[in-house]
Amino acid sequence: MLPYHTLHEAEVALGRNLTFAETVWFNYSANKSDYFLYCHNILFLFLIFSVVPLPLVFLEVKRLVGFDKYKIQPKVRLSLDEMFKCYKDVMRMFFLIIGPLQLVSYPSIKIIGIRSGLPLPSGWEILSQLAVYFMIEDYTNYWIHRFLHGKWGYEMIHRVHHEYTAPIGFAAPYAHWAEVLILGIPSFLGPAIVPGHMITFWLWIALRQIEALDTHSGYDFPWSPTKYIPFYGGAEYHDYHHYVGGQSQSNFASVFTYCDYIYGTDKGYRYQKKILRKLKEELANGIEHNGGSYNTIQDLKSD
Ligand SMILES: [Zn+2]
Ligand SMILES: [Zn+2]
Repeated sequence: MLPYHTLHEAEVALGRNLTFAETVWFNYSANKSDYFLYCHNILFLFLIFSVVPLPLVFLEVKRLVGFDKYKIQPKVRLSLDEMFKCYKDVMRMFFLIIGPLQLVSYPSIKIIGIRSGLPLPSGWEILSQLAVYFMIEDYTNYWIHRFLHGKWGYEMIHRVHHEYTAPIGFAAPYAHWAEVLILGIPSFLGPAIVPGHMITFWLWIALRQIEALDTHSGYDFPWSPTKYIPFYGGAEYHDYHHYVGGQSQSNFASVFTYCDYIYGTDKGYRYQKKILRKLKEELANGIEHNGGSYNTIQDLKSD
């Protein structure tokens, strides 16, 4: 809810004309409560969980020629029914845990100082805050995830998320309810330390989930714009974590690769990459390998 009744009042208060974006924001939000604006996240998350994975579901079902080579674990195929079951499980979690959590967590947003008024933040302010949020989330999530791979944490909680050894987009939020709650902490920490505008908060919640869907997509496209993000882990990086499964002590980080590098938890992954590269080179050099089935994460298509 903005403390101005008209655009003119807002311009007088700011001492300048409103930008186009500020005018749009004024027209949309002036008569809406902050609580209602905050709850937009429920709709955004519902749409993201439901719509973003669909193109790859289509690819998985149709098995379009030319796209198979981008599948990280090409031998694993899920049927439409299996993928729909995953979606239904995620939606149950969404309506029982994620949605209600959004409804009741509004006071925390007020306490940390997420604002909804004018002026709007600049593009650079939004981008730099999002970068900070991702780094804080990545670091905190790394340690929580590592803890969840302890005997107790894995058996009691994290085992559920690892039911998919070859993940699909829908499986990104597929987890034990306690994990959903615990991993809300890293997502909340960034905005709590560096509070920004409601729009930045919306973007953060949306981008974090889209990133999680991307890293669980099961496909590694060389043209993905995320290839240009420094130290970005991506689908192949996290897929290895699922491929190894519960015993995995590698690739814990949720977004970037540097935590695993610094703390030495990417050794298995890097070793596998090295072996695959070597085998690929040998194949390219015409050296025969008997058996033909390497049963590796990328079946020798890795670079
Ligand atoms: Zn894990
Ligand atoms: Zn995962």
